[in-house]
Amino acid sequence: MSKKKKIIIVGAGLCGSLLAIRMAQRGHRVLVYERLADMRKTPLAGGRSINLALSDRGLKAIKSAGLKEEILEDCIGMDGRMIHPVEGGERFSRYSGREGERINSVSRTGLNITLLDKADEFDNVTIHFGFKCEHVNLDKAIAHFKDIDGNTAEVHADYILGTDGAGSAVRKSMMARTPELLFNFSQNFLRSGYKELEIPPAEDGSYRLDKNALHIWPRGKFMMIALPNLDGSFTVTLFHPYEGESGFNTLNTPKKVVDFFKKYYPDSLRHFPNLTEEYFNNPVGLLGTIKCYPWQAFGKALVMGDAAHAIVPFYGQGMNASFEDVRVFDETLEACNEDFEKAFMIFQEKRVKNTNAIADLAVDNFYEMKDKVADEVFIRKRTIEMKLEQTYADYYSKYSLVTFQENLPYEEAMIRGRKQDELLLDICSRPNWEDIALEDIYQQVKAITI
Ligand SMILES: Cc1cc2nc3c(=O)[nH]c(=O)nc-3n(C[C@H](O)[C@H](O)[C@H](O)COP(=O)(O)OP(=O)(O)OC[C@H]3O[C@@H](n4cnc5c(N)ncnc54)[C@H](O)[C@@H]3O)c2cc1C
Repeated sequence: MSKKKKIIIVGAGLCGSLLAIRMAQRGHRVLVYERLADMRKTPLAGGRSINLALSDRGLKAIKSAGLKEEILEDCIGMDGRMIHPVEGGERFSRYSGREGERINSVSRTGLNITLLDKADEFDNVTIHFGFKCEHVNLDKAIAHFKDIDGNTAEVHADYILGTDGAGSAVRKSMMARTPELLFNFSQNFLRSGYKELEIPPAEDGSYRLDKNALHIWPRGKFMMIALPNLDGSFTVTLFHPYEGESGFNTLNTPKKVVDFFKKYYPDSLRHFPNLTEEYFNNPVGLLGTIKCYPWQAFGKALVMGDAAHAIVPFYGQGMNASFEDVRVFDETLEACNEDFEKAFMIFQEKRVKNTNAIADLAVDNFYEMKDKVADEVFIRKRTIEMKLEQTYADYYSKYSLVTFQENLPYEEAMIRGRKQDELLLDICSRPNWEDIALEDIYQQVKAITI
């Protein structure tokens, strides 16, 4: 039996493009089908995060495709959070006490294009744009597509890999077989959505805010963040509830929007020359978590990336987790000597508990970012975490475990990180917290996490 297989990848987003490269590097025949037109020829309609935070887990996977250095060249390093209190006066909080641990702002389209260009270099990869997967015959590995002119196509393969995002058609085909697959599915929306705005470059082309930081305006029930772009602009995202004083449904006239910004985001107002125009032109996106199991069906089809585990963006890990899927799947195939059926089973067992963990951590971080980063006890905890990281080589905060420990599975990062947080928050709530020796705190952390 030939080890080289014919593989259909549904979706040429971030996960599907990297997966196509790795499957091609393994020598398989790869057919990629993407619903949208080729983004290298047709600019995409807006609506979904223009830039993203790429961190060590994503970079490790990208390295396996030989693209790490190239992609890092197009990134802007962010060393920490710049917190903008309502009363003014910025405060910088580093992500890590160690030098060189930073996250990277990268253009979603730019990154996707780099991956598509690389995938196109392989003779054994063909990418078909404008082909929407309608459904999949899972037992026979046949995918049914409709092109932009309404023509249908039926494509046969050895295996189908679904990387078609949160609304995945491949996952829906699995759901349609629920009794046989015992398919579990959950979808939980936050009662908040997101809207993107832009802070353009200053007139001389420079950045209007510190470019090496992720800017946050935490306001308890809502927040605003900004990530830098290479052209001197920032992509700003409002995370607001739908209803109430700060609700997107309430802020429905230009005057209300401007008054709201004056009251809650006063230092930012001068950076938005087109605030109300953009506010009313740009859509409100949904924020939700999707979990499902199994990820594979009948040894013939597998979902990964957002198709298997869409998460809210507050840990900046959705894409990173999707890239990590590709790396782990690749390593699993290697270990299984290219036995896809076996690899599917092992891969889903390995991954699902870890992607469930990052999904839960991301929801926790929503509350931390909009509320806690300005809280006194939380600020003390960050101060101690920095000192611990600067002093002890084996200490990592929960944030660092998730973001900078790319070899540690998310589930372990979550368990260890939560224990540490509980202890440190308890210490920082005590009136004598400043008198407790760092060594003493370190020993207490070690005692509960080892
Ligand atoms: C506001 C926001 C901010 C974010 N910020 C970050 C961040 O800072 N860091 C981070 O790591 N992650 C972030 N994420 C998450 C990240 O965007 C996703 O996790 C990532 O895009 C998942 O990649 P994917 O390829 O699995 O899915 P997608 O990027 O959704 O790609 C799926 C692809 O499949 C195609 N497709 C869909 N249906 C079909 C079909 N039926 N047939 C054929 N093709 C189809 C789509 O057109 C698309 O090209 C953010 C998400 C949001 C919403």
